[in-house]
Amino acid sequence: MLEQNYWLTTAEFPAPNADVPPPEAVDVAVIGAGFTGLSAARTLAKHGAKVAVLESETIGWGASSRNGGMVLTGMKLGVNQLISMYGRELTRRMYAASLTSMDCVEQIVREESIACDFSRCGHLEVACKQKHFDDYARQAEVIAREFNHTLRVVPRNELSSEIGSTIYFGGMVDETSAGCNPARYVAGLARAALQAGAEILEHARVQTIQRESRQGETGWKVTTSRGSLWAREVFVATSGYTGSATPALQKKIIPIGSYIITTEVLPEKLALELSPRNRMIYDSKNYLYYYRLTPDRRMLFGGRAAFFPENEQTIRRSAEILRRGMIDVYPQLAGAKIDYVWGGTLDFAFDIMPHAGQIDGMYYALGYAGHGVAMATYQGQKIAELIAGDRPENPFVGIPFPGARLGLYNGKPWFLPLAGAWYKVLDWVS
Ligand SMILES: Cc1cc2nc3c(=O)[nH]c(=O)nc-3n(C[C@H](O)[C@H](O)[C@H](O)COP(=O)(O)OP(=O)(O)OC[C@H]3O[C@@H](n4cnc5c(N)ncnc54)[C@H](O)[C@@H]3O)c2cc1C
Repeated sequence: MLEQNYWLTTAEFPAPNADVPPPEAVDVAVIGAGFTGLSAARTLAKHGAKVAVLESETIGWGASSRNGGMVLTGMKLGVNQLISMYGRELTRRMYAASLTSMDCVEQIVREESIACDFSRCGHLEVACKQKHFDDYARQAEVIAREFNHTLRVVPRNELSSEIGSTIYFGGMVDETSAGCNPARYVAGLARAALQAGAEILEHARVQTIQRESRQGETGWKVTTSRGSLWAREVFVATSGYTGSATPALQKKIIPIGSYIITTEVLPEKLALELSPRNRMIYDSKNYLYYYRLTPDRRMLFGGRAAFFPENEQTIRRSAEILRRGMIDVYPQLAGAKIDYVWGGTLDFAFDIMPHAGQIDGMYYALGYAGHGVAMATYQGQKIAELIAGDRPENPFVGIPFPGARLGLYNGKPWFLPLAGAWYKVLDWVS
């Protein structure tokens, strides 16, 4: 088994010139070369802005190349909870935006001819308890009534048409969700941004950002490990890897580890039995599993096997935990070899919502809570349009962005073991 991201073995990334110093001045400095930052850079460059994307590692190094490639509808929170937090009208706009975010990915893939196996294969949520299944009908009814969007509830006795597992109490299908190869997608986004005229600087960790005027214009001095530049605007797109260069955001985001294994390539007949309609699948627990077939017929199986962000130890431990979880779901895979294991960091806000807008005078978008493939692409584009002077519809701008209660959080998530234990308790009792 290789401790390596399988997707990276399938993708080719552009390699921008590493020897050039940063430009002296730009209209917008984008921090982070993932879906958010690259989607923003592409849009800004197409609007004629001079853009530099500053990335501390390499293109797509963060969650954007490491994820399950599930292009999902909706947000992490259920619709009833959203309505109780924001009311019907704003929730309706948020839900519409989450559907549009998938169209946004599809449109970019088409316009830029990105070969990333994008396919509207739909997703399946499976119920781990009878009461979770009972709730599906209620959710589908609210979503149909309030948002005019159709979900199909699948009772237990019909579930074999969707999944080759007998452990679940039923399921719910959304036909509009999609799947893609995320590493190929983020590499394609980078190519599109470069082609539109943006500059991408790899190994350029942003260390400090300070207010500085230049030729009478207010802006920012951005100091990186490759030198400094002046920017009229700064867009922070650092997601779960947000650090001390932007302390106000760091305090609002909890970095949480998520881990994935992939099996060897499976025989065609077995793959068809496991996932007859090739869905993106996840279960109804808080401590959930998500899984899918890769385009070359491996089972990709992910979950929050350890809560802490990825390191050698958490990755190794996760491989065995996930293998056991996968066999609980699919006993047919007991003999399947695990070829790859890797981890990545998710970005959770304290209210588990995406957030975007301005903080301390800088633009930002983050808080995707495991639903970032579509939403990060969309937010990158929308915030770029805002910076370019348009007034795009974006219901996530301006919603309250809570920090830790009593301010007891400095960006170092000491409470993660407690949170992990708490989620396990919730899964027993709810
Ligand atoms: C294991 C895993 C599975 C997931 N599965 C799914 C899924 O199936 N579907 C889904 O919708 N979402 C999924 N997600 C979430 C999704 O991948 C993220 O929400 C999305 O990739 C966020 O994109 P981003 O561009 O905002 O951030 P990232 O891709 O994380 O990019 C942030 C970048 O910022 C850079 N950076 C940080 N600090 C600095 C600095 N000071 N200077 C310069 N650069 C800096 C980092 O190096 C990094 O490359 C998953 C995430 C993980 C980890």
